[in-house]
Amino acid sequence: MNRLQIRIHRQAWSEMLGHCLEAMPREACGLLFGYLSAAGIPVALNYVPIANAAANPLHSFELHPQELVRALYAAGGKHELIGIVHSHPRSAPYPSDRDLATLWHTTPSHWIVSLRDPSLPAVKAFAFRKRQQEHSSLEAISYDIIME
Ligand SMILES: [Zn+2]
Repeated sequence: MNRLQIRIHRQAWSEMLGHCLEAMPREACGLLFGYLSAAGIPVALNYVPIANAAANPLHSFELHPQELVRALYAAGGKHELIGIVHSHPRSAPYPSDRDLATLWHTTPSHWIVSLRDPSLPAVKAFAFRKRQQEHSSLEAISYDIIME
């Protein structure tokens, strides 16, 4: 079985990590914009930080609605929404049950930046897919991340 691949530009990668580190000890969130290649591989070109509007930003994230709309509008017809990013300041880079309850599961990728060891961020990207049997829950399929 072929592994899923995703590409990210170095600049977007470092801006994503920088924003997550800056927000510590709060969770950070943001968006990755880019395009789907002819082969269907998502390519992330730009990172856009979005304020975390969660009531308890130490333990959850919620994309600030106005900033979200502004970012989607600014991307316009030029770029597509490729990924949603959030950080786990204290836990491993795997989706929580709440992360898997997202309404954004059709977005091609969900990135989690773990800062459990802030000097060595661990980043994973997942596709959230509906399970075949159970209609209510999503499963996370890991991408191979390719930096360009
Ligand atoms: Zn999470």
